Parts: sequence; C-alpha cells; structure tokens
Amino acid sequence: MSMETNNDRTPPPPPEAHSGRYDLWMIAAIAVVAIALVGARGDLSAVIGIPAAIAVVAAAWYLSRRALIDDATDVALPVALDGEDLITDVIAALPDPTVLLDADGRVVTMNASARVIAPALRPGEPASLALRIPEVIDAIRRAALGRTTEHAEFAERVPSGRWFEVFVTPLRRDDNADATTRLLLTFRDLTPIRRVEEMRVDFVANASHELRTPLAALSGFIETLQGPARNDAAARDRFLDIMEAQAKRMARLIDDLLSLSRIELAAHVRPETPVDLLPIVRQVIDALQMLARDRGVTVTVNAPKEPLIVSANRDELTRVFENLVENALKYGASGKRVEIALSGAFTVSGGEEAVAAVRDYGPGISAEHLPRLTERFYRVDVTESRQQGGTGLGLALVKHIMNRHRGRLSIESRPGEGATFTVRLPISTGSASSTKKTI
Ligand code: ADP
Repeated sequence: MSMETNNDRTPPPPPEAHSGRYDLWMIAAIAVVAIALVGARGDLSAVIGIPAAIAVVAAAWYLSRRALIDDATDVALPVALDGEDLITDVIAALPDPTVLLDADGRVVTMNASARVIAPALRPGEPASLALRIPEVIDAIRRAALGRTTEHAEFAERVPSGRWFEVFVTPLRRDDNADATTRLLLTFRDLTPIRRVEEMRVDFVANASHELRTPLAALSGFIETLQGPARNDAAARDRFLDIMEAQAKRMARLIDDLLSLSRIELAAHVRPETPVDLLPIVRQVIDALQMLARDRGVTVTVNAPKEPLIVSANRDELTRVFENLVENALKYGASGKRVEIALSGAFTVSGGEEAVAAVRDYGPGISAEHLPRLTERFYRVDVTESRQQGGTGLGLALVKHIMNRHRGRLSIESRPGEGATFTVRLPISTGSASSTKKTI
C-alpha cells in the first residue's frame, strides 16, 4: 500500500522550554480540575488538601521527567517514547476496536477488540493484508491523501451477519502541518443498533398487517350491507356478528400493543406491592369459567395453605395468568383438563421463589417452536391463533411482565403430551411466606 506521506518517522525533539512549560501547565490544570470537582461537591474542607496532594505528586513526576531528559541527551527522546507508550496504553484501554497505522499503512499498535474483528492484524505488517475489506482500505487511502477524517460502513457476512463502521483519522505532527504521520482507525460495532432497527421495522410491519386484516373485513361487510345485503335481514345479522368479532379483535390487538409498550417503558422499575398469588389465580379461573365450559375443559388448582406473597403489580400478574390459562383452554382443549399448581421453592442461590405451573394435556408444541414462542406475533399456527381470537402477543407480554418482576417463564412440551408453562417469581422478603418452613 502506498500513501502520500512523510517518510521521516523520527520525531524531532520538542524544545525543552516548550516541554517544561507544558508540564507546568499540566500540573496547574490538574490542580484546577481537582478544585473544581471538589468545590462542585461542596466539600470545602478538601479544597485545600486534595490539590496540595496532587501538586506534590505532579511535582515529583515533573522532576523525575526533567531528570530523565537532562540525563539522556539534549534530544528529548524520552518524551517521545513516553508519548508512544501512552498512545499504546490509551489504545489498549479503549473499548472499541482501534488500530494505529504508520505512514506506510503498517500496524503500529492495536487493542484486543481490534484483534477480535481482524485476527490477522500484526504489528509491523500492512493493515490492508489483514483487513481485506475494500471499504476500509478505500477509507484509509482517502484519509491519507485528503488528510481528512474518513468514514466507511461495512458488513461481515460470515460467521454471522455483523455491521461495523470505521473512522480513519489522520494524525499530524505539530511541526509539519502538511505531513500525515499516523492514521487512527476506530471501529464501532453497529450490529446491535441494526438488529433493533430490523426488529422495529418487522414489528411495525407485523402490527400493521394484523390490523389491516380485520379492517379489510370490516370495510367489506360495510360495503355489502350498504349494497347487495341492504334489505336482507338474515344476512345483516350474520354480518354484524362477524363485524363485532373483527372489531373486538382489533381492540384486543391495540390493547395488547399498548400494554406491551407500557410494560417496556417501566421495565426497569420493579413493582413493590405485596401480592398473594392464589387469589389472583382463582379470580382468573372464575373469569374464564365460560370458556372452559364451552371447550369442555376442567380446571383444577393445587396450592399450599400458606399464602405465596410476591412483590408485584396485581393487574400485570392477572394478565400473565389470563394469558397462560386462556392459551391452555384454547390450544390444549383436546386434553380436557388444565391443572394449575402453585408452590414455593428455593433457587440455586438459596433465595425463595413462588412457582406457578399451568399444565394442559393438548397436542403440545414441537421443540423447534419453543424458543420463539415469546417473540411478538410468533404463532405455531397463524390460522388457528386467529380463529381462537389470538393476537400473537400474549406470551411476549408474559415474558416482559416476568422480566419487570425479576421473574422467569419456562415452557416444557412434547408433541402429543400437552404443555406446561411455568412462571417463577422471587418471594417478597418479610412476607408471611418468606420463612423456610412455609415452603
Ligand atoms: P396468541 O394470541 O396467538 O395465543 P400467544 O403469544 O399467547 O399468542 O401464543 C403464541 C402461540 O403459542 C400460539 O399462537 C400457539 O400457537 C402457541 N401456544 C401457546 N400456548 C399453547 C399451548 N398451551 N399449547 C399449544 N400451543 C400453544
């Protein structure tokens, strides 16, 4: 690789007076920053002590540096070497992949993160051989020629799709404003941002699609009722029933979307109200009695005598059990029974948790679907979900509510043997059930 550069790489000695003045400025600056920081905290008693201590340390550092310079030679090489070491240390400490190239495009130094994205990079060797990314090589060439910071984005398809951007900054020496002596490459991993962007785009597309289907049905029926079926009383009643179902589906979808965004907004705030699990489960079963009867399913509850108190938001926990029990009744109806088991348990780390398992004896779910069930809009069978009035957001909601409550959701199932959805929540400390005896 060739670049228009200054080939003289021996740094000229900085004038001594300049170097000493610089050090004194450094000491003064450190003291001023310390005073500002301490003063800003209002801790006035330390205002005098801390800068004084810093001044002593800085003076010792300054004198030792002066001694080094004086002992060696008039050429202030140690200063330059200090600078090199400092640059190497600073680059090593940077979290993002960073590489320093010399005027010939050879690697001077790089950090561990750079080695991860380009394992072939070696100090002293041309970066172009190791990087082999046309966008990056072109940015290096442009930065060297134009002496301006250049930016490029590139993707790595193998082993997994990842996106990066690189900034190539030419570094010039003070004494030779025309010459570029070094190029600093800083990489940034754009993969998480791109993934979030993709998820957002998918989410909007899915949500719009889910809303468009019932909306199209509603518009169709309105047209029919205004036209051909205007005077057909029987058809009108049938169509109005379908329209009601579609409108309810849209309302459910909007309700689920709003709940998801509300829970996401509060994801970092852990609910603190002590809530007993059993009354919530009983209330949900009562509310779903009609559905259970319709599907011919018997629901049983097994719970300890003692309350299982967790720190929770009552409405959100109700939502969790509504979703799990309703799914068991809808998708597992063929098994004819749904069992809900509440219990207390100890975690591996010795903490206490409340465990609630909802088990059905329906067709079950095959293994390949299990890890994806909590994704928004993921369904094993879209048509069946729609027929059952599903939105595809129920389990995503359960997962988000569990995260906010520092709880967990696990799913176990084998095709033909039904499914068990288990939630685990930390027992509220100080509650009646937080003694080991009770669980
Ligand atoms: P939906 O609104 O479609 O019910 P969920 O997020 O609650 O959305 O569930 C996602 C999918 O998981 C469902 O569409 C269904 O395919 C599957 N599923 C959920 N619970 C069960 C269950 N108990 N048995 C079999 N499949 C289930």
